[in-house]
Amino acid sequence: MRRVTKSEVLKAVSNYGPIRLVGFSDEPTLYRMILPQRGDVYVKCGADILLNGLKTDLRAEARCPVCGNVTSFHIDQRRIEDLDPKEPMLHVVEFKMGPRHLGVECESTHIFDKKDCLTKWVSTYAGKHGLVISLPEYMSSLNQRLPRKVSPA
Ligand SMILES: [Zn+2]
Repeated sequence: MRRVTKSEVLKAVSNYGPIRLVGFSDEPTLYRMILPQRGDVYVKCGADILLNGLKTDLRAEARCPVCGNVTSFHIDQRRIEDLDPKEPMLHVVEFKMGPRHLGVECESTHIFDKKDCLTKWVSTYAGKHGLVISLPEYMSSLNQRLPRKVSPA
């Protein structure tokens, strides 16, 4: 892994303020983020990666809950980049927590490497049905609903 220099850390802090991670997990999960400042961090669900990506650039790996294949991507400047494979699907169950706040139901929120896996998973899923959406689409929906508090210069 690339070494993080002091100037990069300071730059990240000034861009985003102190970073408060959401969905952090002490146990390994299907969802791993690689943060420039903190190294590897596991989060509880697929949407947590994207929510953290609103605050900081990161690299991520999401393991499909059906077949175990890894979907990797970067989030740069609140945009999904370098998706591999190209068309993973997100199933996300949201609940409202008031204006500018968003909650997601983690047990029902997953990133699938391909549509077939999502279809297979949904066929045995008994919980609340959520939104089925591509990662770039969900990221842009988060960007619209959870705008930056401070406008870029
Ligand atoms: Zn899969």
